[in-house]
Amino acid sequence: MTSTAEAAGTGQEPRPGPPPPGEPVPGQPLPGQPTGGRRPPSARRRPLVVAAAAGLVVVGLAVAWMGQRAEAIASGKPGLVWALSPASNTVTVRLTAGSGPQARQVLAHSRLSVAEAGTRHPEKAPAGSRKIRVPVPPGKRTQLMVRVSGPQPFQRALTVTVPPPLRILAVRRGPHGVLVSASSPLRGQAGELLCGTDKVSFPAATQAAVAKSPERCRGRLRLTARDGERAVARVTVPSLPEIPLYAFASPAGRAVYITVDDGWTPSAQVLTIMRRTHLPVTAFLIAQAAERNLPYWRAFAAAGGTIGDHTVSHPVMTKLTLTQAATQWGQARESLGRWFGRLPVLGRPPYGAFNPTVEAAGYRGGLTTLVGWSATMTANHIQTWNGKRLEAGEIVLLHWVPGLGHEMVTLLKAIHAAHLTPAALTSASFTGIAPQQRSLDGD
Ligand SMILES: [Zn+2]
Repeated sequence: MTSTAEAAGTGQEPRPGPPPPGEPVPGQPLPGQPTGGRRPPSARRRPLVVAAAAGLVVVGLAVAWMGQRAEAIASGKPGLVWALSPASNTVTVRLTAGSGPQARQVLAHSRLSVAEAGTRHPEKAPAGSRKIRVPVPPGKRTQLMVRVSGPQPFQRALTVTVPPPLRILAVRRGPHGVLVSASSPLRGQAGELLCGTDKVSFPAATQAAVAKSPERCRGRLRLTARDGERAVARVTVPSLPEIPLYAFASPAGRAVYITVDDGWTPSAQVLTIMRRTHLPVTAFLIAQAAERNLPYWRAFAAAGGTIGDHTVSHPVMTKLTLTQAATQWGQARESLGRWFGRLPVLGRPPYGAFNPTVEAAGYRGGLTTLVGWSATMTANHIQTWNGKRLEAGEIVLLHWVPGLGHEMVTLLKAIHAAHLTPAALTSASFTGIAPQQRSLDGD
């Protein structure tokens, strides 16, 4: 239990019955108001007598109260306020200054002590302190006897009712995170995060849920009941499943892998080469680009081409939330699957930008593998990751741009000169290969 945020249960000494001076007293005429005393005597005299008697009683009470008050003002008798903190199960009693010229002096020489009714060992406020904090048991009603010693000694009984303690009944792991069940209705805090990333929600009055995020989370979930009681649940939330990104694939059979991105400008020449030589090519298509030339991409797939997921609209995926990134992968995959008859399993993040959230989003979007690259081909020039000749296992990145046909011819010459064999890219191409840890350069 923690002790921040004092809550419900603030109490004050009961005020005396009659209203304070200056307010109208029921039954008494206000100053300057006509009294109405000139009515002719009639049969209504009896009610008038009753009213007058009642008025006298009220005036008498008011005078008596004002007399008491005057005495209190003269004596400077201190007052008491108290507050219950359900969060820490303590009552704080505070001595306050009375009124009148001696009030400060009286307060300075007053000592405060509190004992549970029926016990002989009161808690004493330290000398000079006007405040004392005493523990009270949860789930019970407790009688406290407050004693004030000093020039104006007095004592007062307080009755404090403390809500039952908040208990954590169960912590269960589910497919989406962790569900915590508590003994009392909880106060939900919107937008709360555990471990900085895992969202906390309140699916039912006595339940709190922590959603999985890409990072594993081990933390203390602080819960506050609606009655102010607090409890802490220790939870371990496993990370969301992720799919890895690879910049290299299997070198078996001296394989290299040709990948072409985006899809705004289809190439008839590439299709011709594919048909003539059975060249395996993987196209990572932006769904919005693919939609413009569906017949071409159907012909591409029919010629043995593989279609991969390059998102719906080519955003920088590392700048998106998990949900947004999963939508980019998932919607593109679904569209490409519907158009070309096969759901893609490989995805390539635009600009090569990835992190655990993008990888978890890929899993959620239905992909099995993210694919990077180790070599690029731009303006008819091959650039490998280490500046050397193309080697087996490398993944080459090109784009669907005007001139792609010419680039493809140049690339194939280099591949054959290095005694490499273009191979189709599948999930199995990455068996035994180490995933890439950092984002890549390029797009
Ligand atoms: Zn791209």
